[in-house]
Amino acid sequence: MTHEILVIPGDGIGQEVVPAAVRVLQAVEADLAFVEGEAGDHVAAETGEPLPQEIRERAAEADATLFGAAGDSAADVVLPLREVVGSFANVRPARAYPGVDALKPETDLVFVRENTEGVYSGIESEIAEGVTTLTRVITERASRRIAEFGFEHAAENGYENVTVAHKANVMRVTDGLFLETAEAVAAKRGADYDTALMDALAMHVIMHPEDYGVVICPNLAGDVLSDLAAGLVGGLGLLPSANVGPDNAMFEPVHGTAPDIAGQGIANPSATILSAAMLLEHLGYDDEGQRVRAAVEGVLADGPRTPDLGGEATTGDVTDAVIDRL
Ligand code: ATP
Repeated sequence: MTHEILVIPGDGIGQEVVPAAVRVLQAVEADLAFVEGEAGDHVAAETGEPLPQEIRERAAEADATLFGAAGDSAADVVLPLREVVGSFANVRPARAYPGVDALKPETDLVFVRENTEGVYSGIESEIAEGVTTLTRVITERASRRIAEFGFEHAAENGYENVTVAHKANVMRVTDGLFLETAEAVAAKRGADYDTALMDALAMHVIMHPEDYGVVICPNLAGDVLSDLAAGLVGGLGLLPSANVGPDNAMFEPVHGTAPDIAGQGIANPSATILSAAMLLEHLGYDDEGQRVRAAVEGVLADGPRTPDLGGEATTGDVTDAVIDRL
């Protein structure tokens, strides 16, 4: 069966790293049909709308979407796209690779972040001049869904440690529910787990990343902690992510548009190629996904490398090297 992939390069280096990842997807044995769509600041400049309705519909219909990055319009592109694909889990692996100068080479962990609610529910107001409020939404349904996903992800991918991050000592009602629900899921599965206050976790993950496997987080905590973990493994150019829903998913690098290097052909395509590997695995092409990941790991170890990793290679050189290894 042919899987339809919607490809949205977006802005900045998205225009460079997404085509690179598509070249890699075209080089593996997978029955994929690519449909190109555009979104982001440059589309808003032309049409006034960063995410045209037609692209939303295509994302809903496609089997998966590969997205690059959007600039100022990011919130108006990424959040609706995540919603359109019904994504409730944001999966962000942070793994150190041989050959890359990582602060902590022993890092191999995955943040599983709830991405439909929490403080990103969009319920903010200015109730009086100079006084603003935000409503943090935590539901049992979404907490159960993310905990089940996180424990399943750990079991399927061989991670022994599962940690539930929370701040239930302060946010007693909302994170109380998040924690209680995750604990009930663990009990039902008979799974071992730890819990950690998210602030203490931030320190401990820097000092001892080897103590963590899968970390299940509420929305904002997952966003912040996964960027922090990016620092442990050598920077944003290496971190892929998946936004997974029940029947659809979107894959994107964790980094943004990197305007400082956009247009120079030197962006590191690894994060996007690794996102493409996650896409392959999501569609059931497990062997191909593994092969792509192994090829990226080989290139990271032996070069060529882009300037962010201390090399002089271009995006194209790195992509060619990955394809050669495939
Ligand atoms: P945005 O506003 O779109 O989030 P930003 O520059 O604030 O852009 P990122 O795009 O995530 O945030 O980039 C942060 C830093 O990391 C920049 O210095 C950028 O050059 C670097 N960087 C990010 N992604 C890559 C990449 N793929 N290759 C090389 N450097 C990268």
